[in-house]
Amino acid sequence: MAVCIKDLIQNMNLVIGCPIGCSYCYARNNVRRFHMIDDFEKPEFFPNKLRLMEKERPQNFLLTGMSDLAGWRPEWRDQVFAKIRENPQHQFLFLSKRPDLLDFETDLENTWFGVTVTRKSELWRINTLKANIRAKHYHVTFEPLFDDPGEVDLSGIDWIVVGTMTGAQSKKIRTAPAWAYSLVDQAHVLGIPAFMKEDLVPIVGEAQMVQELPPALQRVLDGQAVWQK
Ligand code: SF4
Repeated sequence: MAVCIKDLIQNMNLVIGCPIGCSYCYARNNVRRFHMIDDFEKPEFFPNKLRLMEKERPQNFLLTGMSDLAGWRPEWRDQVFAKIRENPQHQFLFLSKRPDLLDFETDLENTWFGVTVTRKSELWRINTLKANIRAKHYHVTFEPLFDDPGEVDLSGIDWIVVGTMTGAQSKKIRTAPAWAYSLVDQAHVLGIPAFMKEDLVPIVGEAQMVQELPPALQRVLDGQAVWQK
């Protein structure tokens, strides 16, 4: 049975808001509906939430569920990275669609930097990610896919995630099964774990689902099981 990625990786929204302006942004709709901040285009930092990292029970966290790392001020990033360093029991993931706006280096072992790719013309983001963020771990999320990304250079990438459009537009825009299979196959050739998100079940069928995690993220989940005993 396919698992929901939100059961494996939880959102911690330390920053809310994003100036990038994707038409399909679900975060913008939610932020406006619940009036979380005044203007979604102007990100705000909530440092009081940093204490959530102090929990001893290990967790995998996505820190950009309602923002893009490229929209974070460098001083927010520094504050968050310092807290991450104090909490090696967790793994932390970031995503960006504008790695061209980023330029920094970090030796954090429990931090994963990724880009979202939604079409072939965005493949440049992968190499730009590796060039502009000098870090220990990289991931790529292919979601939602609007066309066939074709052959992808995944060298140096530690994990890929493949998904499809969700919500109101999910009937109009769908990831073709062949695109998803091709990405998973290309990852496997390089020994990279691949994860098909649960929204792909109606498209590819339960039997075709591949849901692999990198060892560090799996160790966190195994650690949670021990914690619950
Ligand atoms: S980058 Fe992400 S958070 Fe920003 S507008 Fe696009 S989908 Fe929304």
